[in-house]
Amino acid sequence: MSVQNVLNLIKEKNIEWVDFRFVGLLGKEQHISLPATEVDEDTFVNGVAFDGSSIPGFRGIEQSDMVMMPVTETAYIDPFTAHPTLIIMCDIYTPDGQRYDRDPRGIARKAEEYLQSTGIGTKAFFAPESEFFIFDDVRYESGMNKSFFEVDSEEAAWNTGRKEEGGNLGYKIPVKGGYVPVAPIDTQQDIRSEMCRLMMEAGLRIERHHHEVATAGQGEINFRFDTLTKTADNLLKYKYIIANTARQYGKVATFMPKPLFGDNGSGMHVHMSIWDQDTPLFYEAGQYANLSEIALHYIGGILYHAPALIALTNPSTNSFKRLVPGYEAPVNLVFSAGNRSAAVRVPIAAVTPKGCRIEFRTPDSTANPYLAFAAMLLAGLDGIQKKIDPRALGYGPLDKNIYELSDAEKAEIRSVPGSLDEALDALEADHEFLLAGNVFTKDFIDNYVELKRGEAKAVNIRIHPHEYSLYFDC
Ligand code: GLU
Ligand code: MG
Ligand code: MG
Repeated sequence: MSVQNVLNLIKEKNIEWVDFRFVGLLGKEQHISLPATEVDEDTFVNGVAFDGSSIPGFRGIEQSDMVMMPVTETAYIDPFTAHPTLIIMCDIYTPDGQRYDRDPRGIARKAEEYLQSTGIGTKAFFAPESEFFIFDDVRYESGMNKSFFEVDSEEAAWNTGRKEEGGNLGYKIPVKGGYVPVAPIDTQQDIRSEMCRLMMEAGLRIERHHHEVATAGQGEINFRFDTLTKTADNLLKYKYIIANTARQYGKVATFMPKPLFGDNGSGMHVHMSIWDQDTPLFYEAGQYANLSEIALHYIGGILYHAPALIALTNPSTNSFKRLVPGYEAPVNLVFSAGNRSAAVRVPIAAVTPKGCRIEFRTPDSTANPYLAFAAMLLAGLDGIQKKIDPRALGYGPLDKNIYELSDAEKAEIRSVPGSLDEALDALEADHEFLLAGNVFTKDFIDNYVELKRGEAKAVNIRIHPHEYSLYFDC
């Protein structure tokens, strides 16, 4: 879409406001709206100024002026505003016209440019499966109590408000076993369909939606893969539409990785493949899971760098409450065709050469998608360049049921870090691969680690509710 196309769209759709957006380090969308009458060709040349010192992890107060440069191809009409509003995602520049090296979207674009410079391929496709819960607003706001957070019994589930509207209709919803159930267990068919309708209107190609394994209203919507930066743009659109549709229904959606103790968490599995023009590079018929050597080495890079990578793909203290055994979230740094407890799964059902891809199952939606996708690509490319063979390093393939392995076999398998601090330690020790092509800078890593250490500390110094049951009566 050209600048002229955007200006025409503004006229045709009687747009009143143009909403310029960017994301900071934490991956949250920020926005500034201009009257459409103030937007012309110059806006796309000069950009829109904002105060970078108020965004966590951006510039200090002494050099706060920053500029948003609109990316016309990202424009879509906001489905939620009373006044017709056009949303446009922006890259961030410094006032002297340089790309800002802490701009997450800029980092994603640099990762794509780096891929091309390596000669390995021309494009990387990404497809995230971002799971979420939809809760009743009222329950969320008033329900900060034990029964809300602990789904460890039938009774607790009942107390969390999973009751039929209109009284007891005799249908008790079980605590577990909710994968793709029909109504009345699935009470969210219509709300997910409405989310999909709005996403399609906003330009996303929707492939399917379904109820997920946790019974407390967990869902997933899948949109079609695209190249790295575009997919991160699409993910922000996806999250914005889910959060605001839920709000319109008087509910609240959360992408928090583990909102309920004792039930499945929400992951963001990420499917990836590399292509050279129109040729997929991950497929080779007859090999293990039909994986080419390039694909194997890409997996090697992901698994070898996983402890550091996870500081960017699972960057919250809550992320590590999801990465525990028993809930389909991966804890084992191995690859496998099919095994869902493996960090890297290779989908094999109904896969064509073009559809051949790997699925990194560790990430969750607290990740900033621009940073996480860029880091995953860099880890994979490092694996290809260094020919990291995951089989030689003990990363699988592991096709056995992990629970049936002997203790000696289990001891061979490496695990994901146990906490945000552990992941940050790993990132401090292993980040050379992120500096390739100057995609991430050392300054970025240091600043990011400092910001995230602050989050970990803020959680650690607070008194946990469970400490009362353990220690109050000491
Ligand atoms: N909710 C699971 C997770 O935390 C994944 C379930 C699935 O395989 O889709 O990763
Ligand atoms: Mg899922
Ligand atoms: Mg998946």
